[in-house]
Amino acid sequence: MSSAPVLRLAIAAPLYRVFDYWAPPGVDTSALKPGMRLRVPFGRGRRCGLLLELGAGSGFPPERIKPALELLDTEPLLPAADLELLRWAAGYYRHPIGEVIFGALPGRLRQGAAPSAPGEPGWRLTAAGAAVDLGQLGRAPRQAQLLAELGTRPAGLSRSELGLRCGDCAGVLRSLRDKGWAEPVQLVSQPSMPPQPAAGPDLNPAQREALEQMLDDGDGFQPVLLDGVTGSGKTEVYLALAEASLTAGRQVLILVPEIGLTPQLLRRIRRRLGLPIALFHSGLSEGERERAWLDAASGRRRVLVGTRSAVFTPLPDLGLVIVDEEHDLSFKQTEGFRYSARDLAVIRAQRRGCRLVLGSATPSLESLRNAQAGRYRHLSLPQRAGGAAKPRVELLDLRRVRPSAGLSPALIEAIEQELNAGNQVLLFLNRRGYAPVLTCDGCGWISDCRRCDAHMTLHRSDQRLWCHHCGHNRPLPQACPECGDHRLQPLGQGTERVEEFLQSRFGDQGIARIDRDSTRRKGALERLLREIRDGRHRLLLGTQMLAKGHHFPDVTLVGILDIDQGLFSVDYRASERMAQLIVQVSGRAGRAEKPGRVLIQTRHPGHPLLQLLLTRGYPAFAEAALAERREARLPPFSHQALLRVEAQDAAAPPAFLQAALTAAQELAAPQLELLGPVPAPMEKRAGRTRYQLLLQAPTREPLQRLLATWVGRLAELPEARRVRWSLDVDPQEMY
Ligand code: ADP
Ligand code: ZN
Ligand code: ZN
Repeated sequence: MSSAPVLRLAIAAPLYRVFDYWAPPGVDTSALKPGMRLRVPFGRGRRCGLLLELGAGSGFPPERIKPALELLDTEPLLPAADLELLRWAAGYYRHPIGEVIFGALPGRLRQGAAPSAPGEPGWRLTAAGAAVDLGQLGRAPRQAQLLAELGTRPAGLSRSELGLRCGDCAGVLRSLRDKGWAEPVQLVSQPSMPPQPAAGPDLNPAQREALEQMLDDGDGFQPVLLDGVTGSGKTEVYLALAEASLTAGRQVLILVPEIGLTPQLLRRIRRRLGLPIALFHSGLSEGERERAWLDAASGRRRVLVGTRSAVFTPLPDLGLVIVDEEHDLSFKQTEGFRYSARDLAVIRAQRRGCRLVLGSATPSLESLRNAQAGRYRHLSLPQRAGGAAKPRVELLDLRRVRPSAGLSPALIEAIEQELNAGNQVLLFLNRRGYAPVLTCDGCGWISDCRRCDAHMTLHRSDQRLWCHHCGHNRPLPQACPECGDHRLQPLGQGTERVEEFLQSRFGDQGIARIDRDSTRRKGALERLLREIRDGRHRLLLGTQMLAKGHHFPDVTLVGILDIDQGLFSVDYRASERMAQLIVQVSGRAGRAEKPGRVLIQTRHPGHPLLQLLLTRGYPAFAEAALAERREARLPPFSHQALLRVEAQDAAAPPAFLQAALTAAQELAAPQLELLGPVPAPMEKRAGRTRYQLLLQAPTREPLQRLLATWVGRLAELPEARRVRWSLDVDPQEMY
């Protein structure tokens, strides 16, 4: 019996180890393959485990190893290559392997359920519905639209397909059912039909050149940084490359930022490639996630489009990975398993030996550095496609003017001009709510959060003060809580306050405010965007939700209300983010016959990096920023890991970090710098005291070597029981 192989399993638990079991009674071990799930006894209960490998022996005495209870799969749920990627990621980011693997599975599969049969819920016309005269439905255009769409596919359309074609239409479908015109069906997935791609525009010389270079490189791993201003036609290049991969029988993975996943983009991809696509993002229901995952994993769907977590979805025939807007922060997971989907996309393509494109109008300094060092091929699309002119960018000095709700007289005048000329205007302010702080004129009281080192934001819509850091909120006080004075003043402005001002000044123009508050309801964002495209709003106002993924061709003026936070911040990445934001927001505007204009308000018009950005553009800015980073030995010229700690008891975090520091010093290589412990930039948050310790090294190797042993020791420190700690490898933000 002792010659039987030991099963090494990953189990969903926050533990830095794998677990050994014997095969379940009666199961032939030759049937066991890595990637299969088993149910096992664990502690006093049972858990689902995933087989990583079969081992010859165990560090445990054989009599202490238990047999697994049940084999749950007949085929590996995860193909070997995709399992390897997860194991690599768990190792690199030092996160418990079981959490990494089970976190990558759809919910039901995580619990051990069998994968559901292919097929998905959808709708089809009834005979009565097919007979409806659409011309008679003038008063119900949405119903007519749905009937027309359903009419194109008598077997029925899936819910996701309907969503793509018609937006959020659950209510309209219910009305159709009540009238007996449509009925729900379970659609069996068709074996994938031959693609029927629609022709795109003829590529311009720059696009052709980029595409040819990529095709010439062959279909092995040859990473490309596709650096092209917004509207330069990157997406067309992605699509042409995707077509080539599909024709060669390979699957395509397209990763997009959280907010960049718009119905327009999906429709465009689907129409051009002529195939149903699998969609994977955080807004899906568990059932939808599982279907998308299985459709991709089974190879039924050849194209997967998704946000961050899609990077882990199995794709047996993967041949091309595209990361759009690769600089975007939403590719970084900032809690739990803190991975970078952009970086893992690179690793995945490398290990697969397949094509990789990182695209952006404002590439991250990391990727630019990789291109400089010859690790990526750097291709650019310097001009807007279709001949659209570049916008003109100017600074508005805020120092000697009296702004109204944060808008300088010059900006207000410019808005008025554009509106009078019948154009659209886009205003950008990265702060939601009415005002970031409320103060008392009597005693100087300030609306601080009791649980955080932060002010509470005044929200007019619900008449409350909200802390944007911990979610704490309370009713708007009618009088000062300290002195009872009624003269309470909102200071500064958020989008609500700017909207109020615009309403009073330009109320007849139609104002669309787009931020997290105005788009909370499902479908609200799509509705607002549709109304903007239809020209029902002439003034668009929003946070960074407006800065990504959307193109507003009728916008001729972009106003950026406040960039000064980005100029002087404790975070060394702030200026990079500011530059990316300015360029991204500016790129939303204008087209060939209507060139755009961008006005940026600042109190620091002479700031050197800002000047450089405006006079010589993002590439020159990035070069200067990289030179600064090199000088300061900051990433990408060094590599970091950040150990964050928090606890209710203010003394516990520094004590833990002191012990962690001592442990690191015992292990550390000489090239490794240990910086801290120091309080986090926001020392108190949600009632907890927060500290951090930064590890930095000139190359990854000594850092990874230290982490390999250090993390295990941290878990065992007696001080660890009194704190919450987390490790962030390649941190993107320093809070
Ligand atoms: P990006 O992805 O770089 O922002 P897109 O691929 O979305 O750019 O292109 C921007 C706009 O220009 C789109 O409306 C697209 O249809 C159009 N376009 C792209 N390439 C061409 C081309 N070669 N000829 C004409 N129009 C093009
Ligand atoms: Zn007061
Ligand atoms: Zn708070």
